Amino acid sequence: MQQCNFVVKDVLKPLTFFRQACQLFYRSDPLKIVRGQGQYMFDEEGTRYLDCINNVAHVGHCHPEVVRAGALQMATISTNNRFLHDELVQCAQTLTSKMPEPLSVCFFVNSGSEANDLALRLARNFTKRQDVITLDHAYHGHLQAVMEVSPYKFNQPGGEKKPDYVHVAPCPDIYGGQFTDKMYPNADLGALYAQPIEEICQRQLAKGQGVAAFIAESLQSCGGQILPPAGYFRAVYDAVRSSGGLCIADEVQVGFGRVGSHYWAFETQNVVPDIVCVAKPMGNGHPVGAVVTTQEIAQAFHATGVAYFNTYGGNPVSCAIANAVMRVIDQEGLQQNALQLGDYLLRECGHLKQEFECIGDVRGVGLFVGIELVEEREGRTPDTKAARWVVNRMKQLHQVLVSSDGPNDNVIKLKPPMCFSRENADEFLLAFRECLATLTQDKLAKEVATVAATTNSTTHGVIASTAETLANKTKLFERQDRLIKSV
Ligand code: PMP
Repeated sequence: MQQCNFVVKDVLKPLTFFRQACQLFYRSDPLKIVRGQGQYMFDEEGTRYLDCINNVAHVGHCHPEVVRAGALQMATISTNNRFLHDELVQCAQTLTSKMPEPLSVCFFVNSGSEANDLALRLARNFTKRQDVITLDHAYHGHLQAVMEVSPYKFNQPGGEKKPDYVHVAPCPDIYGGQFTDKMYPNADLGALYAQPIEEICQRQLAKGQGVAAFIAESLQSCGGQILPPAGYFRAVYDAVRSSGGLCIADEVQVGFGRVGSHYWAFETQNVVPDIVCVAKPMGNGHPVGAVVTTQEIAQAFHATGVAYFNTYGGNPVSCAIANAVMRVIDQEGLQQNALQLGDYLLRECGHLKQEFECIGDVRGVGLFVGIELVEEREGRTPDTKAARWVVNRMKQLHQVLVSSDGPNDNVIKLKPPMCFSRENADEFLLAFRECLATLTQDKLAKEVATVAATTNSTTHGVIASTAETLANKTKLFERQDRLIKSV
């Protein structure tokens, strides 16, 4: 095992040097990770954790081919992109070959925030407009211009006020959003959710201002693993383009084959954006990103004479790493793996939903899955506490790392490294099942106690039968516990 200098309790002390600048997972009992391999992370005591949340370690933590490519290039030459280099050319070529026409020009950056920031600049320059439409709950990065289009941040109590030139449209969440499949069972939800954007565009046109851009994740992750309804992006893109704006797809989380059926998530909606932003998985943990756009938009930017320069964007090391990542995705059939395992996970989570009332919705595509926990199904009341409890128990009892998100923080998120196996899926499912069972058991126990406290002797029959159900469930859970321990 790798030598480590601090045990967790010692790490908490030096944390005072950066506590305000870092948002830890599992804040009350943080993990100190010393090593990663494939879909696993290891803490300083050598405990193995199954990583179901790390979409950055796309092809697996410390993939040997990616590590080798980076180390070799670092030992050969690393410089800025004022010099031509094979890895740079190769990276641009491979990336654009994965994109539909006419997306054929790459700008290299170092992060998702930088990619989205540059995308907004490109759009504003091309359209000579300023207004941007974004989706509620969206997050597009930490730089000033992208924070302005990130309601996930600016809607927090201490967040900066949204500028007037930013317009927020509803998140196309058909389970818990403004228009749900329950409220409008026979409606075209794609059209319903596109309508507010059409209205913004019309208002902007009437003011003589139009729109510079519409920016959205192709599948909204921070919004709670949201799959927009069919036809949504097509209708939105039509509206935005008819008001003179460009369409930006933020693929920072969901690109590079994660959805299984396609390489890019926007392809699931059969649209072609004007600008695509990629990062996180592209470097498998190394900071690299890119903006891919059309010749026309790139040319207009170039024509300003304000040259684009980014010291580290497109350096040979980052490009060598990105090239290795894209090679591994293809060589190891990881997109296909995402498709098969995603289907399996969704099917099995669907079975859990039949069994456990606390699951309100299971949704996803490929290795991008969301499980929404509710207090009761009928009202779809979010159960934030349950989600947090599950996240912690999964880590503490089962050493399985999952996270929760969404406006009510009640959606369990899965976006594991793409080398996730069937055995890993089963390990997750078994652990998750135990959590749901315990949650249900606790809930039942509380209900029995409440009934006992509030009823008179004539209702003892009800209590007795509830107690019997509870006893039966307890036996079942004990069997599960034994099963889990034997795995
Ligand atoms: N866009 C999306 C959808 C993201 O999830 C993130 C990061 N969570 C970003 C942009 C910003 O990326 P980075 O942290 O690499 O700047």
